[in-house]
Amino acid sequence: MTTIKLHNTRTRKKEEFTPLNEKNVQMYVCGPTVYDRAHLGNARPVVVFDVLYRLLRHVYGTDHVTYARNFTDVDDKINTRAAESGRPISDITEETIQWFLDDMGALGALKPDHMPRATKYIPQMVTMIEKLIADGHAYAVEGHVLFRVRSYKEYGKLSGRSVDDMIAGARVEVAPFKEDPMDFVLWKPSNDAQPGWDSPWGWGRPGWHIECSAMAYELLGESFDIHGGGNDLMFPHHENEIAQSCCAHPEGGFAKVWMHNEMLQVEGKKMSKSLGNFFTVRDLLDQGIPGEVIRFVFLSTHYRKPMDWTAEKAREAEATLRKWYRLVGLAGGSSCYDPLIQALADDLNTHEAISLIHALANAGDVNALRFGLEMLGLWQGQIPKWVEIEGFTDAEVGTVSDLIQRRENARKKKDFAEADRIRDGLTRAGVKLVDTPQGTEFEKLPNYDVNVLDEVWGGA
Ligand code: AMP
Ligand code: ZN
Repeated sequence: MTTIKLHNTRTRKKEEFTPLNEKNVQMYVCGPTVYDRAHLGNARPVVVFDVLYRLLRHVYGTDHVTYARNFTDVDDKINTRAAESGRPISDITEETIQWFLDDMGALGALKPDHMPRATKYIPQMVTMIEKLIADGHAYAVEGHVLFRVRSYKEYGKLSGRSVDDMIAGARVEVAPFKEDPMDFVLWKPSNDAQPGWDSPWGWGRPGWHIECSAMAYELLGESFDIHGGGNDLMFPHHENEIAQSCCAHPEGGFAKVWMHNEMLQVEGKKMSKSLGNFFTVRDLLDQGIPGEVIRFVFLSTHYRKPMDWTAEKAREAEATLRKWYRLVGLAGGSSCYDPLIQALADDLNTHEAISLIHALANAGDVNALRFGLEMLGLWQGQIPKWVEIEGFTDAEVGTVSDLIQRRENARKKKDFAEADRIRDGLTRAGVKLVDTPQGTEFEKLPNYDVNVLDEVWGGA
């Protein structure tokens, strides 16, 4: 079996991955707060952990991986959006969840096995909070429940910082009822205009961090394999998840491997509304940038490096994918290409995987190329609409693309007889070649004859 190595934030090392149970490898990834369209940065963890999900399914078997990614559908940002728009909260969250699924679907992301919504797990959160209070890890005061950070000795281990350093660096909310400024909210009171539930501490709503702890426990248990998210979540969100889960369930270890993707930037700058370079996945799709292109650009940078989105990269990615899709449109299957799996198994080296795919395309190894695209989530079983060429079937597009690639290879090897044979053959078959800076394009002529095309293709 392939050995997967993953960089574990907790140990700061690349480690060999050994699942707790090979028959059920479990992963939890923090999902979006649903009040608006996902911005481009939000899509990065989705794509990164989708590739990991595909790799785990390849190595352990499709039915032996469980992936949970939540929706945070109770949050003050959602309340504000509802108040501003005069719409019910549930309308906003429903609509945003559907947008998210559509947009991530356009990026080729598989749906996780579980997509829990926080509001459906309130009783589980209450139970967990009660346990934390009973064991001295939390206290109720003035309708709030707070986690007593100093009660958990390991606090700060994930990000490798001391509690005092974290206090100095963080914008912690100082409230008169807190025992310690570092203590964080597990439960807070709601007024009539805010969403709320009955609880032993009065009418209120949960804090953000307890959601993930309660949902991960309910769906995956007290110990599971991988926990992921963007590195902006490492502190305080993930530190707090660990503290809550390990104190409520000391019999388990919560997540064994912690993985964090680096942030996405735009043309070398942090993406922000004030810089005017803030945009959503939908904005790009609406501009005609295909989801596959967005995904390809993301995967060309390793997930632990900052990734820079540029229009130039998108243009290059489109030209490359166009060429590849035309090749995989050829009839044929997909055959496992081990070096590609090894690249992904090396802490998700998608950059290396893409280099390998380039080589496969140049060598005309269409079945391995198709396999590579599948592993990266770039192949959904057919040539995408934006690549289709008028008047040709997918198979014909594949045949012509393969001939063009072979002609290029022949020219490189100075085998001009073969290059000319292909060029003349295509002319006889009624296919006109047009050389452009992005590569060779082609058109159908009135004398097009697929039988001649097949003859030329088979005659190499
Ligand atoms: P949020 O809805 O803000 O909690 O974010 C949802 C996910 O998107 C989290 O895993 C974040 O870490 C991630 N994320 C947010 N901004 C970026 C960014 N600029 N680059 C990469 N990931 C991001
Ligand atoms: Zn979370």
